[in-house]
Amino acid sequence: MPNSFDIAVFQGDGIGPEIMAPTLAILSDLAVGGGYSLNFIDAPAGAAHYAQTGDSFPSASMEAARQADAILLSAMGLPDVRYPDGTEISPQIDLRKALTLFAGVRPVTVRPGQPTPLALRGGQSIDFVLIRESTEGLFYTQGRGEVEADEARETLRITRAISEPLFRFAFELAKSRKAAGRGPGKVTCVDKANVFRAFAFFREMFDAEAAKHPELSANHTYVDATALWMVEKPWEFDVMVTENMFGDILSDLGAGLMGGLGLAPSADIGHDHAVFQPCHGSAPDIAGQGVANPMAMILSAAMMLDWLGQRHDFAPMQADGDRLRAAVDAVVAEGAILTRDLGGQAGTAEVADAIRADLK
Ligand code: NAD
Repeated sequence: MPNSFDIAVFQGDGIGPEIMAPTLAILSDLAVGGGYSLNFIDAPAGAAHYAQTGDSFPSASMEAARQADAILLSAMGLPDVRYPDGTEISPQIDLRKALTLFAGVRPVTVRPGQPTPLALRGGQSIDFVLIRESTEGLFYTQGRGEVEADEARETLRITRAISEPLFRFAFELAKSRKAAGRGPGKVTCVDKANVFRAFAFFREMFDAEAAKHPELSANHTYVDATALWMVEKPWEFDVMVTENMFGDILSDLGAGLMGGLGLAPSADIGHDHAVFQPCHGSAPDIAGQGVANPMAMILSAAMMLDWLGQRHDFAPMQADGDRLRAAVDAVVAEGAILTRDLGGQAGTAEVADAIRADLK
């Protein structure tokens, strides 16, 4: 059983290096205590790198990502740095495609003490996971859409090769959440099968996977009604799985339920590789001030520990993922040391120190 893991680290742009540094320090502490080692391999890429060198994603960095056991990424892109065609630098999207990271995992959790725009009544809590397919759907022709004088076209693509493993992943996740006491074991397929044949095909494959899991429940919802129910009764969801564009939109609604992006982690998972990164971007408006909230990055690192621990059957890492989440929960619940986005006055380093202190 391996206990030494190579982690490719994309420090990224804007606040990226500011939130990555304390995250790596916390991970190093945990590794020492847990009897495993994490070797961080710096992978330069992004908008600032492009501005300096003319190369946004050096092939050595892609190779480091391919060879690594897992990939940690903060955020990339700066609105003022663009390719000649006007589009932004986004190596995080290149990684999804190059490594076929089809399952975009977006947990939506409201912790005690966490601000949320909803008025939760006693006993109600929000804890579900949205899985956004991340390689095809309506993003299939990204950058290749056809634009003529009076008409523009993009293509939505749904394939069996991606959908079947996507649904398998969703049901496995519901099973493990149920085993951990975090959900009833329910998977919801979010689609628009009432209008589009491609979604009827999507749904058929979902139903075929559901039939293999009699111990779990499965249902379907249309994406428009889902947006309503995520606000009206989000506690009824457990695991949701959907197409790329629908997931893109609903995951920001999920972040809104969590009181903003500062506590929203994510993972992009494929067969052999996975990238762990916060949902937010490089926040250039607050970069360099030491005030960025590091929690979404730290919670993404906790998801990395879960994934590595499960993949390598290495319980100490999974336990550390749980401990790290619990430490963030504790700091949020205490409410004394929070960054400005969560209504506090603390800086990045103070919040990270509070999380480290809770881990000791
Ligand atoms: P953003 O997420 O960077 O910022 C939106 C707002 O949230 C800003 O007011 C910002 O200050 C705040 N914010 C974000 N993260 C925060 C944190 N950790 N702590 C406190 N406040 C935080 O979105 P944007 O402004 O639309 O994009 C900025 C750049 O990031 C763009 O170049 C965009 O393309 C890029 N981007 C990258 C990713 C990624 O790498 N995955 C995702 C989204 C946007």
